[in-house]
Amino acid sequence: MADVILTILAHPDDAEFLCGGTLIRLAREKNWQVHIASMTAGDCGSVQYGPEEISRIRKKEGADAAALIGATYHCLEEHDLLVFYNERALERVTRLLREVRPRIVITHSASAYMPDHEMTSYVARAAAFAAPAPNFLRDRGHGPPLERIPHLYYADAVEGKDTLGRALPPAFCVDISKVIETKSQMLACHASQRDWLRKHHGMDHYLNAMRDWSAERGKSCGVPFAEGYRQHLGHSYPQDNLLGQLLGIVSR
Ligand SMILES: [Zn+2]
Repeated sequence: MADVILTILAHPDDAEFLCGGTLIRLAREKNWQVHIASMTAGDCGSVQYGPEEISRIRKKEGADAAALIGATYHCLEEHDLLVFYNERALERVTRLLREVRPRIVITHSASAYMPDHEMTSYVARAAAFAAPAPNFLRDRGHGPPLERIPHLYYADAVEGKDTLGRALPPAFCVDISKVIETKSQMLACHASQRDWLRKHHGMDHYLNAMRDWSAERGKSCGVPFAEGYRQHLGHSYPQDNLLGQLLGIVSR
């Protein structure tokens, strides 16, 4: 059976921005099975469509982007700006973990520009710890508990900075230079967001923002394009850098 990586991020396009290159490389070079989950369907991500319609559109965009690399997209059906660390969210993520059974999980930095990202990070971290515990949410019809806590990684925060604008340097970077075009194609599947970001954030170049950030992270470690990570190394989580061993680490 193929090894599995699961990303648990807040919104449908976060994976394509923050860790898409890493996912592409794992799928292509290591034959890993890739699962991409978003906590919400991005129901507030439009000035044009109502919540139900934009949710439908964005889930399709997420599924299309995932399909480009043979990955599977999951939506955990929470709501934008209403992602909380609570039992419902924790159960949804735990259920998914017990279903797809990843060896590696990528989530958001615990310090991030918006609470949806920060809450997602806490929920993912807690679920990774909880999913192997047989008594946790027992008798809720989940799959069997995981054999062990998966390797947990935090992707770069958006623009690599915390809420106070301080830099959050990665512990290591993955070279994504050879797959930047595919990463861009995945992001381009989120067509609805190019319009919305232009209107709401004044960000005119959706794809360029991703590319610029990947180039900036690349510059910090001496390659054209890169993605940065920190590993969760708290007590009882795996301590070896499996992701780094699989794809190699680049640094200056
Ligand atoms: Zn997001």
